[in-house]
Amino acid sequence: MLDTVAPYKPGKSVAAPAGGRSYKLSSNESPYEPLPSVVEVIAKAAREVNRYPDPTSMRLMEAIAERHDVPTGHVTLGPGSVTIVQQLLTSVADPGTESVYAWRSFESYPLLSDLAGMTSVRVPLAGEEHDLGAMAEAITDRTRIVFVCTPNNPTGVAARRSQLEEFLDRVPEHALVVLDEAYHEYVRDADVPDGLTLYRDRPNVVVLRTFSKAYGLAGLRVGYMIAQEPVAAAVRKTIVPFAVNHLAQAAAIASLKAEDELLERVEQVVKERTRVREALVEQGWTVPPTEANFVWLRFDDEQRTLAFTDACAAAGVAVRPYPPDGVRVSIGTPEANDVLLRAADAFRNG
Ligand code: PMP
Repeated sequence: MLDTVAPYKPGKSVAAPAGGRSYKLSSNESPYEPLPSVVEVIAKAAREVNRYPDPTSMRLMEAIAERHDVPTGHVTLGPGSVTIVQQLLTSVADPGTESVYAWRSFESYPLLSDLAGMTSVRVPLAGEEHDLGAMAEAITDRTRIVFVCTPNNPTGVAARRSQLEEFLDRVPEHALVVLDEAYHEYVRDADVPDGLTLYRDRPNVVVLRTFSKAYGLAGLRVGYMIAQEPVAAAVRKTIVPFAVNHLAQAAAIASLKAEDELLERVEQVVKERTRVREALVEQGWTVPPTEANFVWLRFDDEQRTLAFTDACAAAGVAVRPYPPDGVRVSIGTPEANDVLLRAADAFRNG
């Protein structure tokens, strides 16, 4: 089965141009290093790593439950939310079962569906957003899981409340709906619902969140799922012991304590997102309205997708190509964004 899975290709690293700096805008990370208070907690926890971590991550589960005002039993943790995607897939997979998701969307859905032995059913995006009507139509007796990535990676567009509610009402209970909200903290459109308002009266709906983006802990790997007790408990059983390490648990708890400060940084990224999008539109690019910490530039041309990526790399900016569709550019610091904007302008005029 392993030969069906394409090996992971890390993004190209970018050398700094002569005399210049280089910037990584290719993985939707936070551009800021962790807060001093979080670093202090990590340093203290580092002195305790001769011991195994708390296997249940109980303090972190409780902190997340308190933060979202949900029962602790609704929280499941994993070493990154992508691991929870894998746990969910392996929990529901049986020979001949189907995994439904939009395309293009998060690349781990096809990869991990293949790995779980499920059949992928890809529903084309309508422009840059989920076609939830077509996704509902695509559900069959064999469908076990449906991913809705909102905001969608890599296009940035989020599903709106009325569409999403209508969709959820159409999904039969034998299909689990995963609302992947990795970028939720960057959403500002009041029409985009918080998935946590949707799962409570729907036993087949789960919400995924992560500490990798807004909370700036991508390197420590911690994500979580919120779901009703039966699903949460079933998935918790599939996790390998001690999966969330001691530093990750401590840092995530410290980040929740420092949330106000972290959310100020998110606000900066949102402001920069508006500035970058407006500047790109001014340059003549078509940029879909993004609710995430990245923008999407559609090329529908493999050669131009790669040429733009190379032009950015030559200017010292790593971006993420998805040939032939387009390029995803993460929002960075104002300085990084300025370099990107200059490279984008030069490319259009080149
Ligand atoms: N879901 C989406 C939509 C993502 O873009 C990502 C990260 N690229 C993840 C999940 C995984 O995040 P992590 O495993 O770091 O929590």
